[in-house]
Amino acid sequence: MMAAISALENGASVTIAEKENRLGKKVLVTGNGRCNVTNMNITAENYHGANPLLTNNIFAQFDNKQTISFFNNLGVVTKVEERGRVFPMSDQASSVVDILTHRLKDLGAKIIYETKVEDIKKIGDEFKVRFSNNTEAAFDRVVIAAGGKAMPALGSDGSGYTLSESLGHTVTPTWPSLVQLRLEGGFFNEIKGVKIDGSAALVANDKAVAKESGEILFTHYGVSGPAILKLSRKAKEHIVAGEKVTLRLTLLNGLDEEKLDKFLADRFNMLHKKAIKTSFLGFLQKRLIPEVLKAAQIENADKKCAEISANERKNIVKTLLAWDFPVIDTNSFKDAQVTAGGVNTNEVDAKTLESKIVPGLYFCGEVLDIDGDSGGYNLQFAWSSGYIAGRSATK
Ligand SMILES: Cc1cc2nc3c(=O)[nH]c(=O)nc-3n(C[C@H](O)[C@H](O)[C@H](O)COP(=O)(O)OP(=O)(O)OC[C@H]3O[C@@H](n4cnc5c(N)ncnc54)[C@H](O)[C@@H]3O)c2cc1C
Repeated sequence: MMAAISALENGASVTIAEKENRLGKKVLVTGNGRCNVTNMNITAENYHGANPLLTNNIFAQFDNKQTISFFNNLGVVTKVEERGRVFPMSDQASSVVDILTHRLKDLGAKIIYETKVEDIKKIGDEFKVRFSNNTEAAFDRVVIAAGGKAMPALGSDGSGYTLSESLGHTVTPTWPSLVQLRLEGGFFNEIKGVKIDGSAALVANDKAVAKESGEILFTHYGVSGPAILKLSRKAKEHIVAGEKVTLRLTLLNGLDEEKLDKFLADRFNMLHKKAIKTSFLGFLQKRLIPEVLKAAQIENADKKCAEISANERKNIVKTLLAWDFPVIDTNSFKDAQVTAGGVNTNEVDAKTLESKIVPGLYFCGEVLDIDGDSGGYNLQFAWSSGYIAGRSATK
């Protein structure tokens, strides 16, 4: 959409082939349906891939401020929320997609829906594009803006990679990112739906490699929530490298071992006649209590607080502050927000996004080997790279 708008604004005539029955199906679900359009604070460190510095070249030409002006000029009023995240005032992703679609129509884009690009060949100076309805058309430039393979139900099924490879490009290994983690532990069904404001550290081969704080949601297979999604890229990297990966959960933020031990000692003293399981009411989520006690090797949850030994208390402290779960894997592309890996950025001109292998071919968005953190970074790269690819393709 963005590539088409910038190409049209620069005088090109443009055809968009969209395999779905509407444009921007994935954009519709972004930011929980509110569309986290961009972020006020953007650096190359928010991006990953073999060459995340490519984003510097792109943002130097069209950055988050220009993106906000672009949307403001189209009528999307924006607001900034915590952690610099930018949303439309309407809180509706569909309004962003509608406005882009109106702009495309105003500029005279030809949009062919429910039409998948099956094949692209360069013959002489022309690209011959074959569509799923068995028709063919010729174009002098092509922009591949087909996304990755995250949530294929929303359109991007990985065919952008196949098309790029058929044109001579290489695609770096791809894996799901911003995705939930599957953990070992037989009791997740008992605590699914429980949310905590805690933190999670990723431990690979016994070394802590990353840590995130924030909301963590237990699910029937493991954990989800913003803090977990942020760790997922790193988790998969270490899993793929064959390392033993553990997730260390801290259920209570802001307490060290000593403080928590003292707090529990005082609490057990105060509630000395109560069962240990009852003593946690009002302090821990109810459904977590039996599982925390089991993990702390306290088999009898009816044991009186007065009978809890210092050692047992230490085990509870350890469970509350550093509860270890072996990571089986991440969830699959079906549930992922983005794809890590993609079209090799060494084969693409970092300023124009033109292919170094096939002149006249351009790439933008998630199909490239660039993925961003959660917080508006992925859409920002899609807007900026789309804008640049579309403009370059008209030169
Ligand atoms: C649940 C969810 C929430 C997200 N939330 C955010 C967020 O709040 N902020 C953020 O920055 N990012 C978010 N993202 C990530 C962001 O949506 C993507 O990174 C971004 O949409 C990528 O843009 P794109 O144009 O490269 O690809 P896409 O948006 O995937 O668009 C590619 C389009 O190409 C079409 N297509 C694919 N192959 C073909 C073909 N062969 N022929 C014809 N058409 C084809 C697809 O149908 C699709 O419409 C989220 C993603 C998900 C799944």
